[in-house]
Amino acid sequence: MVEPNKTVEQADSRTTLDPRDWGALRKIAHVALDDALDFVQSVRERPVWRPLPDSVRAALAEPLPVGPQGMEQVYEDFLRFVLPYTLGNIHPRFLGWVHGSGLPSGIIAEIMEAAMNANCGGRDHSGIYVERTVIEWCKSIFSFPAEANGVLLTGTSMANLAGLTVARNAQADGDLRRSGLHGYPRRLVAYASAEVHECVPRAMEILGLGRDALRKIPVDSCFRMDLAALRNAIAADRQTGAEPFCVVGTAGTVNTGSIDDLASLAELCKEQGLWFHVDGAFGALAMLCPEIRPRLSGIEQADSIAFDFHKWMHVQYDAGCLLVRNGQQQHKTFAMNPDYLQHTARGLAGGGVWPCDLGPELSRGFRALKIWFAIKQHGVAVFANAIAANCEHAEYLAGLVRNASHVDLMNPPCLSIVCFRFHPPDWSSAALDRLNEDVVADLQESGIAAPSTTRIHGALSVRVNITNHRTKREDLDLMFESAIRAASLRMASAPAV
Ligand SMILES: *Cc1c(COP(=O)(O)O)cnc(C)c1O
Repeated sequence: MVEPNKTVEQADSRTTLDPRDWGALRKIAHVALDDALDFVQSVRERPVWRPLPDSVRAALAEPLPVGPQGMEQVYEDFLRFVLPYTLGNIHPRFLGWVHGSGLPSGIIAEIMEAAMNANCGGRDHSGIYVERTVIEWCKSIFSFPAEANGVLLTGTSMANLAGLTVARNAQADGDLRRSGLHGYPRRLVAYASAEVHECVPRAMEILGLGRDALRKIPVDSCFRMDLAALRNAIAADRQTGAEPFCVVGTAGTVNTGSIDDLASLAELCKEQGLWFHVDGAFGALAMLCPEIRPRLSGIEQADSIAFDFHKWMHVQYDAGCLLVRNGQQQHKTFAMNPDYLQHTARGLAGGGVWPCDLGPELSRGFRALKIWFAIKQHGVAVFANAIAANCEHAEYLAGLVRNASHVDLMNPPCLSIVCFRFHPPDWSSAALDRLNEDVVADLQESGIAAPSTTRIHGALSVRVNITNHRTKREDLDLMFESAIRAASLRMASAPAV
């Protein structure tokens, strides 16, 4: 006969996911923590990026494990196949797209987030209060009023989508939550500059408005929305029976870092009765810098602002935020009230307004914790200094470009972004596009630096974005010298076509 206790124990070992040997797990955990800190501390000694060898791709494509491999094995596989082939955005010479470079403080915050595993959709616990505090801090950064509210989301793509949802519902006639757009009498249209980030037209698609309903307004020579053209577009739409509901201003465009004239946009929106949303994915946090803040003037009048902590504040991915001036409208757009999510005055179901009623997510992690750690540990002044330093870096790089031959500076350096294009004489524009694309790929594959590409006035350009608290002038020197070398090699070997 089997002893009852033994049966229980056997059943337990088949179903429990806690370690049988906490001591062994503790040992690996300590090693992992040291590895994590070493990985960040020694980042300069490694290439920015290395492509995954075929053998590693094959190893990663393993079939579903049914039996246990054990933590030692998983961790070993991680060290061999995953860690060395990361994106590289914590590296000082990762200069592509718009990425944050991470904070060592986040390692501790994310360990504790994992230990707590709190679902921050709602209910009455510390996570909700930490998020509220973070939102209050954000409101103070943008001088938003007390009745404003906000929610943490994965990033600005989601925050733009959620913000436009509030805008649409607040501006449209009737109850769109009930009726949707079915039978809506007029076409709802919104406006943004031609430089708007692609996630905004995609948000219009998801909202059922269609991307054509986002009118793309031409930009001036500084890549800012042309206000006269905006006015004309609104008037033309009204004339043809469409219903303008929103203007999206950009604070830091993804191509060149330019900032729309937000104060004029705010005024125009007030006059026209339109919702004013700002996509400030990375640029909005330049509000922290007294010397840059004037260029963002008007953002404090926005009806909603979308921005990221994971870009220019370097908080670990993912961490975005939507702020809404009228918190009631945000709540009205997203609140749910089913039987199984009742709020109560006391007990776990208390605690006031829950984040799940301020955005589209119900279950959600404790994103606020890493932001709270970061801001409390460093204070916002250090982030402001790092942002200001990056803007100076952009000016410095623009100077290097201006002084080099056969390279065109493609944009006035705005915030952190500098685009340039190698331009040997007598090459066709198609050949120049290829040259510049190759130079970027050469740099990336060399592991020396990782800029990216974009098109400026249709011309494929090397795009350097410096939202990186580890970047120094020497890094930009090395990147630019290496780019010139790569371009010279290609110019020497490839006949111009
Ligand atoms: C990065 C970026 C986005 C998208 O933000 P995610 O956090 O990547 O979703 C939107 N707009 C601008 C201007 C951006 O730079």
